Amino acid sequence: MDFLEQAKQLSEHTIELRRDFHRHPELGFKEVRTAGIVAEALTELGMNVTTGVGKTGVVGLLEGAKKSPVVLLRFDMDALPIQEENEIDYASEVPGQMHACGHDSHIAVGLTVAKILAGMREEIPGTVKFVFQPAEEGDGGAALMVEEGLLTDPKPDYALAMHVWNQKPLGWYGLTPGPMMAGAHTFRVKVIGKGGHGAIPQLSIDPIVATAQIITALQTIVSRNVNPLDSAVITVGAFHSGTVFNVIPQDAVFEGTIRTFKPEVFELVEKRFREIVEGIAQTMGCQTEIEIVQVTYPVDNDPALTELMADVVHSIQHEAEVDQAYQTMGSEDFSYMTQGVPGCYMLVGSSNAAKGLDYGHHHPRFNIDEACLPYAVAVMAHGAVEVLASHVTK
Ligand SMILES: [Zn+2]
Ligand SMILES: [Zn+2]
Repeated sequence: MDFLEQAKQLSEHTIELRRDFHRHPELGFKEVRTAGIVAEALTELGMNVTTGVGKTGVVGLLEGAKKSPVVLLRFDMDALPIQEENEIDYASEVPGQMHACGHDSHIAVGLTVAKILAGMREEIPGTVKFVFQPAEEGDGGAALMVEEGLLTDPKPDYALAMHVWNQKPLGWYGLTPGPMMAGAHTFRVKVIGKGGHGAIPQLSIDPIVATAQIITALQTIVSRNVNPLDSAVITVGAFHSGTVFNVIPQDAVFEGTIRTFKPEVFELVEKRFREIVEGIAQTMGCQTEIEIVQVTYPVDNDPALTELMADVVHSIQHEAEVDQAYQTMGSEDFSYMTQGVPGCYMLVGSSNAAKGLDYGHHHPRFNIDEACLPYAVAVMAHGAVEVLASHVTK
């Protein structure tokens, strides 16, 4: 089976699908049209299809020559609340919404992989579990699918996922064994003071002054507490307080994210975070409410599975640059599907500076070079079959 040849023959189909999804973006847990198209396509290919897994998620089972082992292939479907600025004939038709992360490509790749593997099911040494996931962009789509039994009946023995990656050019692949993307937490802190007249501060407790000092002091956690050889990020992305120039408000709220690779680094960051917020607030006479919520685990690639996928990439694209040391503090909720399941997450270089297709993810002019798509299809299809045949990590 020449997977690349097949993928190239189907590339017009892949691009047509991708552009259709691009025109019709849907936000997390609202992927109704998208999920409908996915479910219909998988059903037509003869799969056993379950819809409504994690609200709008779709799961298709393709049983090959035997039932086990089982490999899970995950493709995410959600768009972002961004107004598209690309001047292309397949631009988003929904004001304020856009596939600015590339998930439109993932759905198209997934459906093309499904078509190729369904056409050779007698030769597949196991079951392929196609997972089309809603709400990857921070709303917990993967966690909800897992909560609703995604990892049972049948339980996957392996899990694979891919993401187009515009930080890198065509022909580049990110396949790092071990931690590749960070685990993410979000935080929301309310600093409660006492409101009053802006001209009579002595009768108030000013939450803005207290919060300003807290946010400044939080910068010392990464620079002064975390081991310089470890990685961590603390970003305050929102700060809201007050409504008018001459009133000291009652409270201030700030929100942000913490990213770490190692659980022990997160524990240290969380401990210092609470100490700094509570300590400074108390000194300034304020009270606090702190919420810290886990959004993802780190993406921790199984070394043997990742090695196998690197071999698959080289067999499909000899000249490929396979980067096995790439890490990013970005995060991915695919990590929920690899708790107890060996997994491999692959980044596929998709930018082309010569064509102006190199804006970053979540930018209003984000767009990929579609030339990467047949390669992504071939690697995922071939990878699924190889993983099932190899019994790697068993
Ligand atoms: Zn994204
Ligand atoms: Zn994404």
